[in-house]
Formats: sequence, C-alpha cells, structure tokens
Amino acid sequence: MFRDVAVAAALVALADLAGFAQQAPAPLPAAGIVASIDAKKDQYSAVARQIWDYAELGFQEEKSSALLQKTLADAGFVVEKGVAGMPTAFAASFGSGKPVIVLIGEFDALPGLSQAAGESARNPLKAGAPGHGCGHNLLGTASAAAAIAVKEWMVQTKRPGTLRYYGTPAEEGGGGKVYMVREGLLKDVDAVVGWHPGDQNSADPSSSLATIAASFKFYGTAAHAAASPDRGRSALDGMEAFDYMLNMMREHVPQETRIHYVIKKGGVASNIVPDFAEGEYQARHPDMRVLQDIWERILKAAEGAALGTGTRVEHEVITSYWNILPNETLAAVQHRNLTKVGGVDYSPEEQAFAEKIRATLISPTTPMGSQNEIQPVKVGRVGSASTDMGDISWNVPTVQMNAATFAPGVPAHSWQAVACAGMSIGVKGMIVAAKAMALTVSDVFSDPSTIAKAKEEFLRKRGGAEFKYTTIVPTRPPFDYRKGS
Ligand SMILES: [Zn+2]
Repeated sequence: MFRDVAVAAALVALADLAGFAQQAPAPLPAAGIVASIDAKKDQYSAVARQIWDYAELGFQEEKSSALLQKTLADAGFVVEKGVAGMPTAFAASFGSGKPVIVLIGEFDALPGLSQAAGESARNPLKAGAPGHGCGHNLLGTASAAAAIAVKEWMVQTKRPGTLRYYGTPAEEGGGGKVYMVREGLLKDVDAVVGWHPGDQNSADPSSSLATIAASFKFYGTAAHAAASPDRGRSALDGMEAFDYMLNMMREHVPQETRIHYVIKKGGVASNIVPDFAEGEYQARHPDMRVLQDIWERILKAAEGAALGTGTRVEHEVITSYWNILPNETLAAVQHRNLTKVGGVDYSPEEQAFAEKIRATLISPTTPMGSQNEIQPVKVGRVGSASTDMGDISWNVPTVQMNAATFAPGVPAHSWQAVACAGMSIGVKGMIVAAKAMALTVSDVFSDPSTIAKAKEEFLRKRGGAEFKYTTIVPTRPPFDYRKGS
C-alpha cells in the first residue's frame, strides 16, 4: 500500500473538513493523485456498477458511453462525442500543447453472460442477456478516474500539455480503436496508457495475438432434398467444404496459429437443400504480417469450397486487430507505480466469496493471495487474447497493465468474471488500476525524456521507415455485429 501517502492525504482531507484548507500544506503531487481517487471512490464505484447494470454490447453502448462522458465533462473535460463516425465513441480533452497523452476507456459487455453480482453460483439475472464478463465496466471507469486525478494534478502543478480520454467502443469484436486510428485521432499523440481487468496485478511489456474475424455467407439453390436434389446446390455443403479445408490447413500453418469458427445458420429443414449458410470465422497469430498471409489462404479456401459445390460465397470482416507492440520504457514506469500502489486486500467476506467461486472453476492456476501481490516484470510474453489496443500500439508508444479485479483463477469471458466485476472485489482492483495509471501519466508528463526514450524504442521495434501500418477493416464499422445477440 501507499501508506505514507495515504496518511498525508488523510491529513489534508481533515484540514479541508476543518476549514483550514488555506493553511494546510500543499499535498505532494503523487499524494494528491492517490487522495483524489480515494476521495471519489464511492462515485467511481457507482459509475462502474451502473455500467455493469447497463451491460450494453459493442456499438450499442449509448448509456454507458453517455455516463462516462458526463463523469468527465462534470470534472472539466471538453467532450466530443461520435468521433470517427461511431455514435458511442468519444474524446474528452483537457489542457493544450505538447505532450499529448491518452488514457483509454472501454465499456462494452459480452453476449449471454448475465450473472448476479457477488454470487458464487451460476445465476443469470436474465437468461441469455449480456454481462460484463471482461470487466469493461471497470476498465472505462478506472481510466476516467485516472484522467480526473491527473487533470487536478495538472491544474495544481500548472503542468503544460494535453490529457485526453478516448472512449473506445466495441472492443469485443468490431474494434472502435481501429477506426479511431484510421481517422487520425492518434496522429498527434505521444503516449497511450491503458489497462485491463484480470486476476493478477502486473505491468509487463507483453504482446497479444493479432486476429482477423469475418462473417462468411454461402448462397446455394433450394430444392426438394429427395425429389429433386440434382436441381439443388447446398449452401451448407459449401460451408462444410470450407470447414474441411480449414481443418486440413491447421497442419500447414505456423504452429502458433489459432483458427476457430461457429456455424450460425446451416439451413432450416433437412428435407430442403439449404440455399443459405452463415458462419463466423477467426484466425490468430502473434504477428499480424504473418496472419495477413494466412488470411489470404483462408479466403482462397472459401472460394474453392464455393466453386466445388456450385455455390457462391461472400465475406465481411468484423474484426482485425494487430498484435501489441510492447514498450519496455513505458512498462517500467507503469510497473514502478503499480508496485507503489500495491495489490488488493480482501475483507474476510471477500476472501470467503473468492474461495467459493474458485470451487466452480476447472483447475484454477492463479493461487489465492496473489491478488495482494504485484507480479515481477516478464519481458517477451505473448498473451493468448487479442485486443484493438494492438492497432494503437503500432501507431503510438503504448502501455497496458492488469489489475486483480477477478478472484484469483477466474478467467475473463466467464460468468464468474461477471459476478466479480459487479462487486467490491472488482472495484478494489479498479482503484488499483486508476491510481497506477494516474501516477504513470503524471510521471510521463513530468519527464520529457521518458517520451523520447519510449519513442526511440517504438521506432526501433516497429522496423524503421519501411514499416507501413495497414488494416483490412471495412469502410463502415460493423455496427450491427452484435444485433440480436
Ligand atoms: Zn476485454
């Protein structure tokens, strides 16, 4: 914990209460940042819980986005909504000039994961409804809390520069950040700071898997399946031939590759030759440039399957995320601050809850007690998830940390994560993230050499002038990709 700072902050708060604010010594900058977040903890907890209740899916996050916009506007940020052509994306800004530092917020939920908060047995609030299984209710709120604390610190210390909060929709597919990059919103930015909920506290310069996902539609010709099958052409045959080719392809791609799919529509009755089939297909690899080649082969397999079955195929890209380009310079600052802040202390009730919910998991690996620790720095790790932070990280030096918002062992995208994200355990992890990020941003503002060093590392790792960032996302974001989910 940040005990000396907490004591200093408490003294300042007491002086304020007693009406002696003018006589009280100015708090240390770091103490002021931590105290600001602690003082507003109940407000941030309420915001996070409200977004948890809204549980809005990607590109449909109207209420969640509006609440975060209001929280930042009330704190003195200038908010521009609907940026990059996306109604739920926004930019909140304070200050002017260089450097420009951006905090990232996400707020979308996942389909089908509705679960009562703080309950250790499966209990959907509404069966089949969405839930915050990735803790993005905490993600968006912690970044807003950090932004507000840094803004207050900038006012107090008369620090020049621009602080922004980007509200980025549809992280769980869709990928609002990719469109914000394409729109040029990252062009003048010097550093990007973010975080993600998890079951541990860490700040590693780690990477993620690049991913491309698309919807594929096969069109055939319907006919009586027994009386005139020769006059039919099965769209499902087209899709199954495609699946067969993909499954054979697994042997002939680099072994770190992941390929997955679901069939969403495969016909309506077994006595009708299906004239329509639809599926969602996704591939991943640690390097987007390798993945783009694999993706070309996947598209050829789809065409081949359609050709061989007398059907026609169309596809629409839903998601295209680069792997994260890690930045060791910024991660070192983030790790130092996370260590200063410390981990999450459970109350006896939270401890009991965490143990109960662990009993519902298949072989949890993260040990109990780790929520209180900060993991040592690991360089070179590649996480198995994918995020649109990847696209930002190839355009601006970027850092991301994790905080223990889920009980140890609870994986993201589970009902157990939803239960934790809506209760005190989630809020405690969120506050750790808010403080560590705010301290990191203030450090970066204070020391221009950090930005210079981070930029030098970024340019070196990216590969010099010959590097060109490209994306295959469609012109119009896939606003409807979660409609009906
Ligand atoms: Zn997430």
